Amino acid sequence: MVTTLIRNARPLRREPTDVLVTDGIIRQIAPDIAAPADAEIIEGNGALLFQGLIDGHTHMDKALIGLPWHSTKPTSTITEIIANERQLRREEHIDAHQQSTRHAHAAIASGTTHIRSFADIDTEWGLNGVRGLMQTRDDLKDKVQIQVVAFPQSGMLIRPGTVELLDQALSEGAEVIGGLDPSAIDRDPKGHLDTIFGLAEKHDVDVDIHLHEPGELGAFSFDLIIERTRALGWKGRVTISHAFALGGIDQARLDALIQELLDLEIAIMSHGPSGGRPAPPVEYLRQRGVRMISGNDGIQDSWGPLNRPEMLNRAYLVCYRNNFRRDDQIEDVIDIITNSSAEVMGIDDYGFAVGKAADLVLVEEENHCAAVIRRPTPTLVMKRGRVTARDGAVI
Ligand SMILES: [Zn+2]
Repeated sequence: MVTTLIRNARPLRREPTDVLVTDGIIRQIAPDIAAPADAEIIEGNGALLFQGLIDGHTHMDKALIGLPWHSTKPTSTITEIIANERQLRREEHIDAHQQSTRHAHAAIASGTTHIRSFADIDTEWGLNGVRGLMQTRDDLKDKVQIQVVAFPQSGMLIRPGTVELLDQALSEGAEVIGGLDPSAIDRDPKGHLDTIFGLAEKHDVDVDIHLHEPGELGAFSFDLIIERTRALGWKGRVTISHAFALGGIDQARLDALIQELLDLEIAIMSHGPSGGRPAPPVEYLRQRGVRMISGNDGIQDSWGPLNRPEMLNRAYLVCYRNNFRRDDQIEDVIDIITNSSAEVMGIDDYGFAVGKAADLVLVEEENHCAAVIRRPTPTLVMKRGRVTARDGAVI
């Protein structure tokens, strides 16, 4: 039995407290807990206590972390970006296991305890990406929990053979099926979504669809996803990522879609996109009760160098994109990158409560909002009661 006592830490919206952890589980949350004889003591000294941070949308298989600087090529369409990406993989022989391991270490050091990562699957790259990522998931399972999404980044129906590869990836242990712009990339929205939901049913997995399609085209894809979620009975098991369309339709159309999202518990992933593109109205969606998740998206990959692996930084960017300045707005984003993301990903043992896993992060800052704005490196990261990083270094 391994017992740890964290003394004097400050959880969000609660009084300073001690936390007693035994065998990875939070056993007691109270001030001045008497230390059991065998307990390891961690002095919080008034540090902030965060729950483990969750990166609910990233692409670990193709992060270029640790490789020489990659100059992003000029492109005008997503199809061009995707073609560049395949070319880069051919020429540079990207090792998905190595790159996802580097990404994971950077994430752990910055306080991340759970990740949902997509892995590209196409007829050139095959299962290299998803197998490399699943190996990292298994290697590092005691430090970070990684949920792997089988993802047809290059399109699915336009590349015969891709569906079979996705099917194989799910058989080998990918936990979620991903989809991509059913009209804009495959140009066959019904065919694309029927196939994705068919794979979801066959393998009993959740669905997470990248939807960059703007305005009414994107809203039409929403309609089709909603239809299939209802028909399959996949309530609470579908996420729509990016969902730019929600920022580009009129209020009545938006409200009608929101009602469907609520009925079917469909989640929306927003990472506070750059570039002034229309984006989901985070505050309005949260007020209406829509389930939300966030993440860093691709880190330093062929799409661009702007994203970083730290979730406090992502919380800052979501605040920035949505012009959140008040404490209650910033704290709501902290909830998105912790409790709300955990709920969307189905992490049952998550939460700052007795009986939950001790996935905890200590940060030295004035308060939780200041930590989002100033983004310091955590002084300590704990996964299931074990210290995994101190001062930015993975143990
Ligand atoms: Zn993505």
